Amino acid sequence: MWWDIDMDGTGTNFISTVPTQFSTETAWRDHWMQAIYFLPKPIQVSPNEEMSLHCSHDEYSLWFNVGEKPEGPAFCSCQLHCALSRYDFYRLNALDENRAFVEWIQKFCKNKQILTFGDGSLISLYASQSAAKVYAYESSDASARMIESYVSLNKISNVKVIQSFKKLDDLTKEVTVLSEPFFSTAILPWHGFLRFHALIKELQNEMGDMLKVEVMPKKCKLLCLPVKFEHLWKIAAPVGIVDGFDLSDFDVLCQKARTIADPIVEQHSLFEYPSISTGLQQEVLTLNIKSKAEAATTVIIPENSQTNALVFWTETEFNGEMDFATISNGLLSNCAIGEKPEWHPGHRQGVYFLPFETIEKAKRIEIFIEQQENDLDFKFKVL
Ligand SMILES: [Zn+2]
Repeated sequence: MWWDIDMDGTGTNFISTVPTQFSTETAWRDHWMQAIYFLPKPIQVSPNEEMSLHCSHDEYSLWFNVGEKPEGPAFCSCQLHCALSRYDFYRLNALDENRAFVEWIQKFCKNKQILTFGDGSLISLYASQSAAKVYAYESSDASARMIESYVSLNKISNVKVIQSFKKLDDLTKEVTVLSEPFFSTAILPWHGFLRFHALIKELQNEMGDMLKVEVMPKKCKLLCLPVKFEHLWKIAAPVGIVDGFDLSDFDVLCQKARTIADPIVEQHSLFEYPSISTGLQQEVLTLNIKSKAEAATTVIIPENSQTNALVFWTETEFNGEMDFATISNGLLSNCAIGEKPEWHPGHRQGVYFLPFETIEKAKRIEIFIEQQENDLDFKFKVL
């Protein structure tokens, strides 16, 4: 669904938020999102077949059903749809289709006592298929209920959902901690790993020497790709003079507010925004579970001077005795210079927009990254 407005009532001057797929006359309006309503029941329609759609509303929401009579509204009774986003559901399904990773989990967990961390993650259920016992530590009530429902529906007997480390049975002397690591509250791509890191520390503080702990994954790589966004860069750029209107005072205000309020690296679901790569991907930092990463400086030399942003994401390594698996929350396949990168739709990536005055001039970008308690601190120098 989208809207259009007849600006002067003459039927000639419209502002429309029609998606680009449905019209050739669309202006770039990424900041106006369209809405998608999932019908309660899917229906089969043939080309040119007419169908009736009934729309109902209250003060806050709209709902629809196929047919002449009102129905509904349908609302979430499992609470999962309140706790998780559509992107999270995409990610859950995508992980289920990643057979290589699921098989790796099952090989790795064989006959072990496993403790899983994460919320909005099914890793505890995959582990249960070969592990001796699985403790699923679910910090949020919604994800605890989700895992419990799956466990009872599938009659799984070796999974225990816990919301406190005190619930780890006294019998447990040795445990292998496993995580994607994914937490639905994570905002930037590296937050999942840092949260995992913090939970491991919490576990060790609480259990002390009573518990022997093996941890998987042990490290993750932070990667960076210089890109040229077709439109997304405009959200950080000054407006200037448009159709004779000088908006430079407004720009000064906005740019000042951006430096105060916005993080230097922002999160965006990049699969929605077209771009091309302007250089090769580079590793900029390695995060370890055992120690704090050493601060690192990386120099990016883009091949294409039209670079307007840098994209950051993480790749997590899972090493078994014989085999390994890698999970990316950014690029899904290698991307050559000048090609369109394929970003994971189930995760948000981190974006640094080059200062406007350096766009189309940047020859060298220096990145300095330092690991803080619960986040990474970025500094940039564009030359
Ligand atoms: Zn629901």
